Amino acid sequence: MCAPQQQAGATTGAAARPPAATERRTVLKVAGAGGLALTFSTALGAGSPAYAAGNRDRRRAYVLVVDGCRPDEIDSGLMPNLAALRADGRHFPRAHSLPVMETLPNHVMMMTGVRPDRGGVPANEIYDRGLGETRTMDRPRDIRTTTVIERLGRRGFRTGTVLSKDYLYGVFGERATHRWEPFPLLPVTDHAPDVFTMEAALGMVEELDPHLVFVNLGDVDRVGHSDLTGGSLQALRRAALASTDLQVGRFVEMLRSTGRWKRSIVVVLADHSMDWSRPDRVVSLTSPLAADPLLAGNVAVAQNGGADLLYWTGPAKQRDRGVARMLEVARGTAGVLSAHDRARSSWLRLGPDAGDVVAYCRAGWRFSDPMVVSNPIPGNHGHPATRPIPFFVGGGHPAAAKAVSSSLAATVDVAPTIAEFFGLRGAPRGGWDGRSRI
Ligand SMILES: [Zn+2]
Repeated sequence: MCAPQQQAGATTGAAARPPAATERRTVLKVAGAGGLALTFSTALGAGSPAYAAGNRDRRRAYVLVVDGCRPDEIDSGLMPNLAALRADGRHFPRAHSLPVMETLPNHVMMMTGVRPDRGGVPANEIYDRGLGETRTMDRPRDIRTTTVIERLGRRGFRTGTVLSKDYLYGVFGERATHRWEPFPLLPVTDHAPDVFTMEAALGMVEELDPHLVFVNLGDVDRVGHSDLTGGSLQALRRAALASTDLQVGRFVEMLRSTGRWKRSIVVVLADHSMDWSRPDRVVSLTSPLAADPLLAGNVAVAQNGGADLLYWTGPAKQRDRGVARMLEVARGTAGVLSAHDRARSSWLRLGPDAGDVVAYCRAGWRFSDPMVVSNPIPGNHGHPATRPIPFFVGGGHPAAAKAVSSSLAATVDVAPTIAEFFGLRGAPRGGWDGRSRI
């Protein structure tokens, strides 16, 4: 049962000023199905029965992201619950992730419905020109537009985020009515295991019943980053697929047993897929860039697994020459699939935070910068080989009626789909970049 435990805004001398954004919240303690104590951070007042009764719309939408799942893995026989959900729903076999095919940009596109040149967050890692260093795009202000979470909130709908990764929790911040902070976090990937994440998702739906809940399940991705050439790790990936599928099965069963199924849609997709590289198939651009007389000391590199972002940091008047040389060096390096002048490649839609040159690696390769040993992880994404994703809309609501579509659905379609489902009028200024898929 949920009960307000404390009010974070109760600080001395604060009476005369409005609470800061971080203070407008209450911590709710909820007992999960397995007896696990769950802690949700909730917008002030949103835990009250009056708030819960405020919007009587009975429709529910759940977005489940199976992080790093390849579409073929749904057919592996290890994911019967996901396969059944897909078979009975609206299926988009040609769906794809968008550049850069990384976790943060694609989750942000799902909730903003616009590409990174309009919404921010073009990659997981960028070189921050203001700070003069590379950093993860995990700050709430890195999202520069209004998410569908906030659009729903403004119209009195309740929303929830249950995100297994620390940086996802960071970037979405306090936008949702109810937020679960991932716990316990595993080392290296900073993500909570799916069994805990699902426990939180079930608890949030059953106790707080948001209209929209956005869930990220991180196990499949975590195991995907391991080396699959060894038999035991192949077994680990298979185990993760099966166990994540089981968690999705629990969620569907809960929707059915609580009577929510018929009025719900369940959007299932991945943010990107996964590609595995051999230890010798590593691209490190830092050394060849530093060996060039024009580029030495004038370039910063933000490594994103399957993509490298290169930034000219030298004198502005030499920028064009610098970009041309960066392209030349990148294209001449073994393992690089392609390199693009970001400002002249409008189709990338990445915006200036993504730097001057975007380099992709070939399938079966990975970037490792600044040093060859910096990225020891064989499983990577970010490059075109990791574009295909599963994408389907299941659920018992008529909007999820069985169909197969050859449309090129993409991660950016989630927000307009949710907006249409709830009948939200209006779109971002300039329109959605994605399309509703119901
Ligand atoms: Zn991911």
